[in-house]
Amino acid sequence: VKLVSTKNKQAVVSFKEALFKGLPDDNGLYVPAEIPRLDSKWLDQLTSFTLQDIAIEITKAFIGDEIPAKDIETLVTKAIDFPAPLVSLHSQCGILELFHGPSLAFKDFGARFMSATMSWYLAQESRETTILVATSGDTGGAVAYGFLDVPGIKVVILYPSGKVSALQEKQLTSLGHNITALEIEGSFDDCQAMVKQAFLDPILKAKLNLSSANSINIARLIPQTFYYAEAYKQAKPLGKPIVCAVPSGNFGNLTAGLYAQKMGFAIQHFIAATNANAVFPRYINEGIFEAQPSIPTLSNAMDVGNPSNFYRILDLYGSTWNTIKDHVSSYSISNEETLETMRLVMDAYGYALDPHTAVAYQAITRWQEKHHDHYAIVLETAHPSKFLDVMSMADINHVYIPERLAILQDRSSSSIKMGKNYQELQAFLLQ
Ligand SMILES: *Cc1c(COP(=O)(O)O)cnc(C)c1O
Repeated sequence: VKLVSTKNKQAVVSFKEALFKGLPDDNGLYVPAEIPRLDSKWLDQLTSFTLQDIAIEITKAFIGDEIPAKDIETLVTKAIDFPAPLVSLHSQCGILELFHGPSLAFKDFGARFMSATMSWYLAQESRETTILVATSGDTGGAVAYGFLDVPGIKVVILYPSGKVSALQEKQLTSLGHNITALEIEGSFDDCQAMVKQAFLDPILKAKLNLSSANSINIARLIPQTFYYAEAYKQAKPLGKPIVCAVPSGNFGNLTAGLYAQKMGFAIQHFIAATNANAVFPRYINEGIFEAQPSIPTLSNAMDVGNPSNFYRILDLYGSTWNTIKDHVSSYSISNEETLETMRLVMDAYGYALDPHTAVAYQAITRWQEKHHDHYAIVLETAHPSKFLDVMSMADINHVYIPERLAILQDRSSSSIKMGKNYQELQAFLLQ
């Protein structure tokens, strides 16, 4: 499959070029020229495949013309070495646990796949690359773990000071080695704007091989389709129409779901759940898209006021509001409703939802009031132990902390403090 810019369908590039460049020069976004439709015989046998089998098949469909099949099998098997179980909450709803990777968030899928494919290309030509990434919390951790000690790769992570949780910050600042954390006096949107500017900066371009690992990189979206397929596989035997509820910020996750549907996984409908940052719900409900400054909430990884993947969604449906509305419903959930939902689910089912997942659970609950036949899959985007402060606000005080996170608590951390103007970042990268 070739890739094109959302702003110019004539600007065709390879997967490799899109992977390393991140953004096309015209400031659009890379999208597949077409979404590959999977073989229907293969789809019929889906329930007999493992997550890794599925991941390999999808990867071959996207980039089999660029990386030999044998190498795809090896790199995908290594990258996707943890499960994505669908845990039943009640007869109409299951939770898709996407936190079984090293950084305890779904972003491990994208980061590990990117790292595996980039390493494959870099090994062919002994080149050096700097990965520049802005994080609202979990991207940075996933990227830090995904690229730790990968030869030829330096990672620079920008995060908004005071706006990520203590354990999220530890994941960014305590690994060291080839990972550098920049603590920015500003919001996530400021961090993202600085990164975008760096990619368009001819001075940096001349001196550095810069690559992005944000959800703007198409290489993150491909592996995110794996777990939609895996979820569909697990729910299919129930024989009900399936709806997926997606906790959304930058909308990479939702976009991947829409791609998975086009590939042939028969998910009927999607719920885009947001917190108070309600730019997308407004678009779905009123047809008006207006970027806003981001608002801090309890589901901090979703505090995005200008979701960049919106333009990929528009592109997928020919910018037609009615078609998009047919595929996606959207709700905005307040902080109070988030906490209330976390309490309710704990009381009713003894299950600790992290605040992001609680937003999606509340959204799907509303949708199901009018749609009784569907089985809901709620994507659990992170483990609750990453957000202990919010958990305790919901009176959930005994959250199990997995070993791989617990050991960070006593590690020393280091970051470089920086203002939100681009010149400082440029000077740092050039030094
Ligand atoms: C990044 C993140 C999200 C938002 O995902 P998008 O793809 O940006 O919409 C939701 N929940 C958690 C826990 C995250 O880390």
